[in-house]
Amino acid sequence: MSHRIAVVGGGPAGLTFARVLHRHGHPVTVLERDPAPDARPPGGTLDLHEGMGQLALEKAGLLAEFQGLSRPEGQAMRILDTNGTVLRDWKPRPGERANPEIDRGQLRDLLLGPLDVQWGRRVTEVLPQTHAGVLVRFADGRRETFDLVIGADGAWSRVRPAISSATPHYTGVTGVETSLDDVDTRHPDLARLIGDGSMAVYGVNRALVAQRNSGGHVKVYAQFRAPLDWHTNPDRHMGLDTGMDAALDLADVEAVRSSLLALFDGWAAPVLDLLRHGTAFVHRPLYVLPVSHTWAHVPGVTLLGDAAHLMPPLGVGANLAMLEGAELAESVAAAPGPGDLDEAVRAFEEQMWARAGRWAEITTAGLARLVSPDPTEALALFDEVQS
Ligand SMILES: Cc1cc2nc3c(=O)[nH]c(=O)nc-3n(C[C@H](O)[C@H](O)[C@H](O)COP(=O)(O)OP(=O)(O)OC[C@H]3O[C@@H](n4cnc5c(N)ncnc54)[C@H](O)[C@@H]3O)c2cc1C
Repeated sequence: MSHRIAVVGGGPAGLTFARVLHRHGHPVTVLERDPAPDARPPGGTLDLHEGMGQLALEKAGLLAEFQGLSRPEGQAMRILDTNGTVLRDWKPRPGERANPEIDRGQLRDLLLGPLDVQWGRRVTEVLPQTHAGVLVRFADGRRETFDLVIGADGAWSRVRPAISSATPHYTGVTGVETSLDDVDTRHPDLARLIGDGSMAVYGVNRALVAQRNSGGHVKVYAQFRAPLDWHTNPDRHMGLDTGMDAALDLADVEAVRSSLLALFDGWAAPVLDLLRHGTAFVHRPLYVLPVSHTWAHVPGVTLLGDAAHLMPPLGVGANLAMLEGAELAESVAAAPGPGDLDEAVRAFEEQMWARAGRWAEITTAGLARLVSPDPTEALALFDEVQS
């Protein structure tokens, strides 16, 4: 096979695609905008499911290495009420490996392995079906052509406009992320509160979630229902008191902390310590693509992962992204000629749309229950999932 194949984006989708194709002995060009693998913090922890992310790693020949790196104890999940009372405390059974956690940075390095990623290559536009192939334009003015371009470039994909007019829309739920370092030594009370995995507290239209990463690092996510511009306009926070009397400067760590503490006022002191001890705060409004996003097939271009089906972050996005990457790579590797390549992509898209559409419905309904006017809905959802 001598197809010229490029994947745009070196996230879970793009790297899994490239790694599986590499395993099958086929060349692939990985185009990543970041100047280097460690150019920005890699993000929090991911739980990889047995039939999804783990299956993708098996297809890449990396399952054993993953098992050595991942944290099965991270499957523990604890739910508290806003008074700090533990309502549920699930712990994994010995040997359970249904959804072990792995740091994103560890997963990226595992997938990178022998891949020759082209760093610092920001794609600005993709034009399908030129006479020479699919044209890719870069931010530095360069251009290249390929037979197949795969957009694995996440929520704000620059490949997607080549085949779809869909754009992400705001869910009505926003997030502010912070983190704690060396939690076991610096904040032993919080370490005990969080346990070995994740801890969540659900209140009216708001939630606080803490997730253990490796090395005593904890990511904390404050989520709440608010208009997108809640931080610029003190009157626009849907009845939640942010304590703001002027626009909030999101770069002002202490101002954001005060605002969040006001927003979660009345919650148990040990729970609020997650915010009191948090370091920097990052604003992360939750966006999604339309549920069941599809497009008319365009020869030479397709999408994977968040670029194709951005959905609420309820533990499946990276899993789907990786599984799709692995499946598309296997289909492409098995396609002998150009016509077969296009048929392989077309069949893959049908399969991806059906599965992602189901998960988009599940996660959209899940977000409505987790950050909801009735906090008992969140507990009921967890009970359903755990039973
Ligand atoms: C707080 C939070 C927690 C989550 N937890 C989980 C979880 O536990 N389990 C789970 O399965 N999912 C989880 N998700 C969802 C998961 O993060 C995403 O679904 C997943 O990262 C999607 O992978 P991707 O490769 O499609 O996109 P991304 O991870 O977004 O990767 C896209 C890559 O493309 C690159 N790129 C972007 N634009 C360009 C460009 N123009 N040119 C070149 N390169 C470009 C980016 O730099 C990036 O490397 C979570 C999400 C959030 C926000």
